[in-house]
Amino acid sequence: MALDFSLTSEQEQVMEAVRKFAEKEISPGSIERDINGEFHWEGWKKAAEFGLMGMPIPEEYGGQGYDVITTMAAMVGLGKGSKDQGFNLSLGAHLVICAIPIWQWGTEEQKKKYLPKLASGEWIGAFGLTEPNAGSDAFGLRTKAELTPDGKYYILNGTKMFITNGPIANIVLVAARVGEGRGARGLTVFIVETGYPNYVEGFSVAQKLDKVGMRSSPTGELVFEDLKIPAGNVLGGVGNGAMILIDSLTWERSLLIAPAIGSMELGLERAIKYSLEREQFGKPIAKFQAIQHKIAMMKVYLEAARWLVYKSAWLREQGIQSVLDASIAKLFLSEVGIKMAFDEVQIHGGYGLIREYEVERGLRDALLASIGGGTSEIQKTIIARTILGV
Ligand SMILES: Cc1cc2nc3c(=O)[nH]c(=O)nc-3n(C[C@H](O)[C@H](O)[C@H](O)COP(=O)(O)OP(=O)(O)OC[C@H]3O[C@@H](n4cnc5c(N)ncnc54)[C@H](O)[C@@H]3O)c2cc1C
Repeated sequence: MALDFSLTSEQEQVMEAVRKFAEKEISPGSIERDINGEFHWEGWKKAAEFGLMGMPIPEEYGGQGYDVITTMAAMVGLGKGSKDQGFNLSLGAHLVICAIPIWQWGTEEQKKKYLPKLASGEWIGAFGLTEPNAGSDAFGLRTKAELTPDGKYYILNGTKMFITNGPIANIVLVAARVGEGRGARGLTVFIVETGYPNYVEGFSVAQKLDKVGMRSSPTGELVFEDLKIPAGNVLGGVGNGAMILIDSLTWERSLLIAPAIGSMELGLERAIKYSLEREQFGKPIAKFQAIQHKIAMMKVYLEAARWLVYKSAWLREQGIQSVLDASIAKLFLSEVGIKMAFDEVQIHGGYGLIREYEVERGLRDALLASIGGGTSEIQKTIIARTILGV
């Protein structure tokens, strides 16, 4: 009797409450924000007041103290209610790969200093691992941190690429190398205060990147030029970066992807409604087997992806860091998310390409999943190496 697929009634309630909130407060204006590449500042404030910025963070640090599964349920609700998937991404990056690593790996002093600001949404967080020449080969990064002779500061030099929230972040967790090692050796994570909106000396945003999807989530190239960081801002110890990065990426591949389950549910509902309403040859297109098969596979993909994501969150709740399960969930969800979004466009015919139907945007937004947080190819490599032991 140990296998239990149900959420508790409280978790269901949280999911529904977040869905309703997001539908009312986050979704409106998504089309314009997509066109203009604008971040939803008003929505950010409202989501912060609603308590979405620090869900699993303990109450003593200003969070809600939710367990991982409740947090995941809330993220699914966010994806279902908010059509602004860029907003969902920004919130996810802030929470899952900035606030959570500080909570998991920070000293008491760091947690007291940073978590209340992040959990209240007053400060926005980001995670800087990728570099212009180190993407999939993340541990080939070149950003360097050198300790000053008095041992009080690190001097940071390097460039980070494609950083979600980068241009508007108050804190960026930056992966850099201390010493001359290669690969995982010397990798260290620093908590970097950017000073946003008045960037500190040594920090700048080289470019805000214009993207095809997730356009309301600011993505930037960040430059560190002799940036002085207090030595106390090392996260989790010098040389422990690889361990922290793998752990953070595992959280990302389990929890940051959860809103996509909600978006997929929304997409399926939209496709069902449209196929029942749209008539061709004197009957609803839902009567055609070709459309039925697409709808059937969308449901299959959704349910399979859901349970992989739920299992990943459940493992975390048990205190298990399963790199394998997180990669499986992330790979499957990304690939079927794109397929589903593509089929939704096809079911909508010409209207699927028209902006106001909000279907083409779903396809553009879906594309990121198989790239961000490690590409699908890299997830396959992780899965294969883990099970082959090579
Ligand atoms: C919108 C957006 C937001 C992002 N947010 C963040 C963020 O917040 N923080 C952050 O640190 N990064 C972020 N990223 C970066 C993202 O994680 C990287 O883009 C991704 O890891 C791939 O790196 P790359 O773009 O350099 O591609 P590359 O690594 O150059 O890959 C190019 C192609 O080669 C393939 N490839 C590379 N190596 C192998 C291999 N060994 N075997 C098989 N195939 C391989 C890849 O799968 C891909 O198809 C973001 C990216 C985007 C687009």
